[in-house]
Amino acid sequence: MCGIVGYIGKKQALPILLQGLRDLEYRGYDSAGIAVLDNGKIDRVREVGKVDMLAKKIGQVKIAGTLGIAHTRWATHGGVTEFNAHPHIVGSGKLALVHNGIIENYREIKKQLKNQKQESETDSEILGQLIFENYEGDLVKAVKKSLLKVRGTYGIVVMHADHPNQLVAARLGSPLAIGIAEGEYYIASDVTPMLPFTKQVTFLDDGEIANINGDGLKIQNMRDEIINKTITHIDWDQQKAQKGGFENFMIKEIFDQPTVFEDAIRGRFNMEEGTAVLGGLNMTLEQMRDIKRVIFVAEGTARYTGLIGKYAFERLADLPCDVDFSSEFRYRDPAVNKHTLVFVISQSGETADTLMATREAKRKGAVVRGIVNVIGSTIARETKAGTYIHAGPELSVASTKAYTNMVAVLLLYALQFGRIKHTSLATGKRLLQALLEIPEKMNEILKQDAAIKKIAESYKDYKSILYIGRGVNYPVALEGTMKLKETSYIHAEGFAGGELKHGPLALVSKDVPVVAILSKDQLYEKMKSSIQEVRARGARTLVIATVGDEEAKEVADDIIYVPDTMELLEPLLNTIPLQLFAYHIAVALGRDVDRPRNLAKSVTVE
Ligand code: GLU
Repeated sequence: MCGIVGYIGKKQALPILLQGLRDLEYRGYDSAGIAVLDNGKIDRVREVGKVDMLAKKIGQVKIAGTLGIAHTRWATHGGVTEFNAHPHIVGSGKLALVHNGIIENYREIKKQLKNQKQESETDSEILGQLIFENYEGDLVKAVKKSLLKVRGTYGIVVMHADHPNQLVAARLGSPLAIGIAEGEYYIASDVTPMLPFTKQVTFLDDGEIANINGDGLKIQNMRDEIINKTITHIDWDQQKAQKGGFENFMIKEIFDQPTVFEDAIRGRFNMEEGTAVLGGLNMTLEQMRDIKRVIFVAEGTARYTGLIGKYAFERLADLPCDVDFSSEFRYRDPAVNKHTLVFVISQSGETADTLMATREAKRKGAVVRGIVNVIGSTIARETKAGTYIHAGPELSVASTKAYTNMVAVLLLYALQFGRIKHTSLATGKRLLQALLEIPEKMNEILKQDAAIKKIAESYKDYKSILYIGRGVNYPVALEGTMKLKETSYIHAEGFAGGELKHGPLALVSKDVPVVAILSKDQLYEKMKSSIQEVRARGARTLVIATVGDEEAKEVADDIIYVPDTMELLEPLLNTIPLQLFAYHIAVALGRDVDRPRNLAKSVTVE
């Protein structure tokens, strides 16, 4: 992963690059660096740690210049050291490069280099060296010649001391957007850094090289053909990406949920017909009826939304469903055909495994639809059809509002398919009505934040916490464990309630509390018995129950009430107390909740 920023124009590059790195820090944050070209000389500063550390170091150095590149790293090759941080400078200070991705054949390439001495242990520096050795006065030619030798993935930006007015960028597998303003250009891994300056953006596609110089921007492919790109107008509000008075992004994004949920469903249903209308599905009724099976392909939290999608599609549309890890799907021999609908789900739209799974499913002839948050991202573009979840920028590594909006979109899809086969008008209308009531009910849960915080703090010293749920709340239990693991580093495991006595019950003791989701639905009694079973083994229980369910208190040491809704919609509400629970434990433990150790927001490497 990692974040890349580049600037060429009339302004001083340093503050733009530094702010850009802060905007992209969610992509990687083990070290960072910037390089600025001025008067034929490249000045560079790098530092281990977050962008703040780099900024502190730069505070003592004077760096002027209107052309520069910057990088915030998530190491793949070589440890986290200043030497391994980007930008890499090669050729006795002549050429600087930032790279996002992995050069798989860097060892082979290294053997062929004239210069065998590198400063770092990274694959990236080898690529920089290769470009330098291929350079004969034309930077674009040198980049192209080098990239033709490369196996792997890259988003790169390169500058050369002899070209004081030129940046060259290229992409294969790692995202790069180019912002176009009056006499200046911004390059970045996503559009956030350029939004204060321009809303006009074009996205590099795989195999393309961008050449920006005094003549403007030219994009070509590896066969030297000029590509006429479309310019996209981005209307994301940069303000929305700020913390808005909250302590950190995670809590802000949790509280964003009622608002952005409305964005996910707005204009996407027809109450009269009791159905959803997702334009992005882009299928005729005949094509929809031709679908015989649905597969949800995703990683992490997005995969849990797929599990919820499976319950919804089976119930509403009577279609057999599978849920798969993108990383497994792409390497298996998935049995798909033109009657299979594959939903690829990714917040960033750049998740490498999910992108590869997308390509694999397309190659095998499946109908592939993307469910993505980031506008213009690779998966969104490659699937061509699909739906944006409209959660706005999600910057905390632990996903909250993107999860909710993914669930919303999947429910709408399930309803759209359900209404042409199986689901009645009355059920369709009821579901839509219930969706409309969700934001208000979310607010009721968020109002309990202080009480949830108090409960959470009393759980912070446990070493392990188990989560149980049944039916559509089983994925909710899994999502609860994911939030806790990511943000607090406490071990957590989730189980289907009925599975307990087939093994996991052995884990239960007074030192291992159990979080249980006990909604007033068809599995209520069974779930209650499971909670009784863990209590009988000494476990402390935190129960998520439905408002008005007094009986739930009988099995609860601690209880959080959530409003009643239709069973399929319960995940939209029941997940929120679990997000807050994890968040407050993490804060109580002093964790960096937005940037948990070892993780990055968008996993653009395999
Ligand atoms: N492979 C490069 C490195 O380890 C880049 C990793 C990244 O994408 O951040 O430095």
